[in-house]
Amino acid sequence: MQSAKTSLSFEVFPPTSKATNDSLFTSLKQMEGLSPDFISVTCSNRQTSLEDSTVKIAEHIQQQHQVDSIVHLTAAYLNEEEVDTILTSLQQKGLQHILALRGDLYPDVQRNNDFLYASDLIAYIKHWDPSFSISAACYPQGHPESSDTVEDIHYLKQKVEAGADQLITQMFFDNQHFYQFQENCWLAGINVPILAGIMPIINKRQAERILRTANVQLPKKFMAILDKYADNPVALRDAGMAYAVDQIVDLVTQGASGIHLYTMNNASIARTIYKATHSLFDLETITAVGSA
Ligand code: FAD
Repeated sequence: MQSAKTSLSFEVFPPTSKATNDSLFTSLKQMEGLSPDFISVTCSNRQTSLEDSTVKIAEHIQQQHQVDSIVHLTAAYLNEEEVDTILTSLQQKGLQHILALRGDLYPDVQRNNDFLYASDLIAYIKHWDPSFSISAACYPQGHPESSDTVEDIHYLKQKVEAGADQLITQMFFDNQHFYQFQENCWLAGINVPILAGIMPIINKRQAERILRTANVQLPKKFMAILDKYADNPVALRDAGMAYAVDQIVDLVTQGASGIHLYTMNNASIARTIYKATHSLFDLETITAVGSA
């Protein structure tokens, strides 16, 4: 057994227009004082310039808010030369943390074969400059392309062996999935911190999108909330936030290494969760052997 504090981090995404960029900067300002351990910034595989969106926002977070940021980098459609250019830029800007991803594949777009999997990108970055700190994605309910969780964990281990320092999970709504996954990782010899990705559901449209696109099951308890409050946006939001708080209280109590909050660029979500749980994060928790 060992003791450690559970980290709290946020995720934001680059808006699609200048106007919404300003609103993200306002949200980031409103998140000030919540002291996240880091804020990660997503990217899009279809995006033309990482520099003008993800990198710019990550730089803003570090310079204006003095919070570490993590740049998401998807490589399925990049070649080595393009990755070199991005890494040089990140180095120059003092952005030392990368969430290295393969990214989703689009059947209509010709992919590049330089980085077939995230593990190829991780190994490449670590060789390029070992001082980059690297996170990787993981999936408590399995990645949609994997035939089973054993195969998924086998490839996850390759990402860690290639140099991933920590793992961040896809959103999940049943903590048992996370605990089972964490145990499977430990059994497989994966000993880096696993940060639990939590997404508060605050409206019906968002819930429908998750059910349609993400490979996650919503537990009965959560489906009951959706059924009961589907036509009452205020009640659905309250219940969704309470559900996320409940998940976080349990995860911190059980000694999860970190909580990574999918904020959807909404400062009020981050503030509400922070207000309800921040005292828990100040306490050291006892974690089982195997977790870092
Ligand atoms: P990989 O780790 O490469 O895995 C992809 C699939 O290939 C898996 O099924 C895996 O089991 C299998 N596999 C891995 N290695 C091998 C191998 N050697 N041989 C055979 N099979 C293998 N997407 C975005 O577009 N932008 C983002 O900013 C973004 N951020 C994310 C953040 C988090 C925390 C998470 C969990 C996901 C994020 N995604 C993002 C989604 C992600 O891009 C997709 O899930 C994508 O389909 C897989 O990317 P990966 O890096 O996990 O791929």
